[in-house]
Amino acid sequence: DHSLIQRHETAIDEATAPLTIDHWINGESAEPASDERFETIDPAAAVPITTVASGTAADIDDGVEAASAAADGEWGETTARDRATLISEWMDVCREHVDELARLESLDVGKPLAFARDEVEEALEFFEYYASVAQAGHGEQIPVGTENHVYTREEPYGVAGLILPWNYPLSLAGWKVGAALAAGNTVVAKPSEQAPCTITRLAQLSEDILPDGVFNVVNGFGEDAGAPLTEHSGVDKLSFTGSVPVGQQVMKAAAADITPVTLELGGKSPYVVFPDADLEAAAETAAAGIYYNTGQSCDACSRVLIHEDVEDEFTDLFIEAAEYWQPGDPLVDGTTMGPLTFADQYEKVDDYVEIGQEEGATLLAGGEPPAAEALEEGWFYEPTVFGDVDNDSRLAQEEIFGPVQCLITFESYEEAIELANDVPYGLASGVATQDASLAHRAAADIEAGSVWINEYHGGGVGIPFGGYKKSGIGRECARETLEEYTQTKAINVALDEPEL
Ligand code: NAD
Repeated sequence: DHSLIQRHETAIDEATAPLTIDHWINGESAEPASDERFETIDPAAAVPITTVASGTAADIDDGVEAASAAADGEWGETTARDRATLISEWMDVCREHVDELARLESLDVGKPLAFARDEVEEALEFFEYYASVAQAGHGEQIPVGTENHVYTREEPYGVAGLILPWNYPLSLAGWKVGAALAAGNTVVAKPSEQAPCTITRLAQLSEDILPDGVFNVVNGFGEDAGAPLTEHSGVDKLSFTGSVPVGQQVMKAAAADITPVTLELGGKSPYVVFPDADLEAAAETAAAGIYYNTGQSCDACSRVLIHEDVEDEFTDLFIEAAEYWQPGDPLVDGTTMGPLTFADQYEKVDDYVEIGQEEGATLLAGGEPPAAEALEEGWFYEPTVFGDVDNDSRLAQEEIFGPVQCLITFESYEEAIELANDVPYGLASGVATQDASLAHRAAADIEAGSVWINEYHGGGVGIPFGGYKKSGIGRECARETLEEYTQTKAINVALDEPEL
C-alpha cells in the first residue's frame, strides 16, 4: 500500500535528518572501530530507517575506558543531590524531545505512536524517580557497644554494563540507566541491535549536561558487542534484560570476575479466572495483557487459566475482547497493535501457531497475518487465540513473545495454582475474582514476582518488578533497585579509653 509506505518514508526522512546512530563514547559520537554498519528496519513498512554502528570488543574497550575515567573523576565526587540536579536538567531537555523520541521508537520497533509516547514519558519518570530516591539513601550505624563505632557506607560499584532488549527500548533504559547513574555509577549500555535509535538519541541529548564518559552507548550485535561487555574486567556490575539462554551466558561470563548481575528474563505468566470473576472485565484485561505491544512483553499474560464452569462464557468474551487489538499502521491514531518487531519474530510466532495445531490445541481466532493489503509489507499478525491448550504442551510452556493467547481449563483451586506454577518462569501473574480472601490466598500461592488482582501490567515507579525462578535475579523499578547498584562497606573504629 502506497499510503502506508509513503507515510513511513516521510516519517523516516523527518526523523533521521539530524540523527546518526553511531556509538556514544566519552561525550561524543564515535564511529565503529571495525567500520562496519548495519541497517535498522521499520517493521511496519519493511524499509530501512538508518544505519547503525556495529560495535566490537575494541569499541567496548573504549566505552569502558571512558566510563572508568569518569567514575574516577568528578562523577565519583558527586553527591546524590548533584547527580539528581544533572539528571533533572537532562530530563528537561529530553522532555522537549518526547514527540521525536516517540516517533523514533515507533518507527524502530513498530509500537503504536500513542503507546510509544507513554513509554518515553515513563522512561523519563524513572530517571527522575531514581534520582530523587537516591537522595534519601544513607548508611547505618550499628550499636555494638562502647568500644567501637561501626557504620556503613553505600558505595557505587564503578562501571555498570547494561544490556538491553528491543521490546521496551527506552523505558527499560529508564529502569536501568536511571538507577545505575543515580546510585553514582557510570554506564556502558549495549542496546539491542533491533532497537538502537532512541537510547542513542537519549545519550546525544545528554551532551551539554553529563560529564564526558558518564553515559556511554555501544551499539551492535550480542556476540560482537554484548559478550565483550560481559567479559570485560573493567566492568564492575552487570545488568541484563533479555532471554533466558543469553541471561545464562551473561551469568557465566560474570562468574569469571565475580561481577554481580541483575537479570530480567522471560516469562509465561498466567491469568487465573475464578468462576465469580467479572468475566467481561477479566476478558478485556487478559486480552490487553497479551496483545499490548503485540505480545512482545516479558510479563505478557500468555496463559489464561479458566474455571471449567465459566469456560464457554469466558472464551466467547475473550474472542470478542481480542478483536479490539487489530493490527494497523503504528503511525495512525487509534491503532492498537503494531507489527512484530522483526522478521524472525514473525517467523517464530507463525511457527508456534503451527506447533499449537500439531499439538492438538484448537485455533479459535487469528493464526495468520491480516488480509489487508495495506499491511502486506510489514510483519503484522492477527490477535490469535488457542483453546483446549494442555499446560504441558510447548504452546503453554515456551515463551512465544507474540500475540498468541492460550486458554487452559481448571477444576479446583489447587489445580489452578498447580497449573499457574507449572512453568520454569515466575515473572508476573494475574487473578480475576470478586472474593478478596481468595485473591490474597492465590497471590500468596503463585510463584511470581508480580501478582495483579483484577488488572494486568500494573507497574510503575516505586513498584518492585522482577522474576522468581528462571525469570531472573533482582528487582527493578523500586527503591531496592538502587541497592543493586551499590555495595555496602562496613567501617569499624576502635574507641580508645579517654586519657583525660
Ligand atoms: P536477547 O536475549 O536475544 O537479547 C537481549 C540483549 O542481549 C540484546 O541487546 C542482545 O544483543 C544481547 N545479547 C545477545 N547475545 C549476547 C551475548 N552472547 N552476550 C551478551 N549480550 C548478548 O533478548 P531479546 O530478544 O532482545 O528480548 C526478548 C527477551 O527479553 C524475552 O525473553 C523477554 O521476556 C525478555 N524481557 C524481559 C524483561 C524483564 O524485565 N524481565 C523485560 C523485557 C524483555
